[in-house]
Amino acid sequence: MPQSSKGTLFTVSAPSGAGKTSLVARLLKETQGIQVSISHTTRPMRPGEQHGINYHFIDHEQFQQMLSQSAFLEHAQVFDNFYGTSQAWVEDTLLGGTDVILEIDWQGAAQVRRLMPDTVSIFILPPSQEALRERLTGRGQDDDTVINRRMAAAVTEMSHYVEGDFVVINDDFEQALVELKAIIHSQRLKLEKQQQRHADLLSALLTQA
Ligand code: GDP
Ligand code: ADP
Ligand code: 5GP
Repeated sequence: MPQSSKGTLFTVSAPSGAGKTSLVARLLKETQGIQVSISHTTRPMRPGEQHGINYHFIDHEQFQQMLSQSAFLEHAQVFDNFYGTSQAWVEDTLLGGTDVILEIDWQGAAQVRRLMPDTVSIFILPPSQEALRERLTGRGQDDDTVINRRMAAAVTEMSHYVEGDFVVINDDFEQALVELKAIIHSQRLKLEKQQQRHADLLSALLTQA
């Protein structure tokens, strides 16, 4: 993609356990020119998570310091933890022509849409509340108290699906992945992007021989 073509910003929101992390991980593995923003969080690290890979894990004091320096494009409190997206990383990556995905909750997605109206927002929903609970339990990383709180919060998160541009139901994983890829590719084929990408071709095609 030429440097002049700015990347597209996507938000992916879903209740905890709907599969957004797994879907985005596969999408990135199989698609060129797109990266996910690594959020800062005060949440304790889960088993298997790595600093700088899943999140930048920081304490409350560091989070407040970043907030006071206006380092976050958006931030939100989800459950008892704070989460925030690095403004500098997102802006630099988009300017370099790479698409960016933010895996953020509905509050963050709403803030980003207000700041950057071109943002494409995607909601991922589970096929049922039972399936959501099974996935949270099956993931085996949160205890019953945490799972019950996440299930209660899930209905609020899901009620915001109407604010999205696209909705994907993650029932069959492979099907949901195809649909997510289709959304990303459809944005790349929009008139303005194609005009930037194929400027020389379009000019040649419209020149009388
Ligand atoms: P998961 O839902 O099981 O993946 O659990 P996480 O602890 O990874 O994420 C908790 C919530 O925080 C989710 O709703 C995320 O979408 C949200 N979240 C993660 N990073 C950010 C961020 O940088 N900003 C905002 N606003 N929300 C975030
Ligand atoms: P989130 O990031 O939304 O919290 P995860 O990607 O961690 O969700 O997925 C939660 C759990 O559900 C994981 O154990 C994942 O392997 C599983 N999962 C994701 N999508 C599906 C699906 N379509 N069918 C069955 N299990 C799934
Ligand atoms: P978890 O703690 O299970 O990784 O994430 C819980 C929720 O926080 C998820 O819904 C996730 O999308 C959201 N989240 C993670 N990072 C951010 C972020 O940087 N900003 C916002 N607003 N939400 C986030």
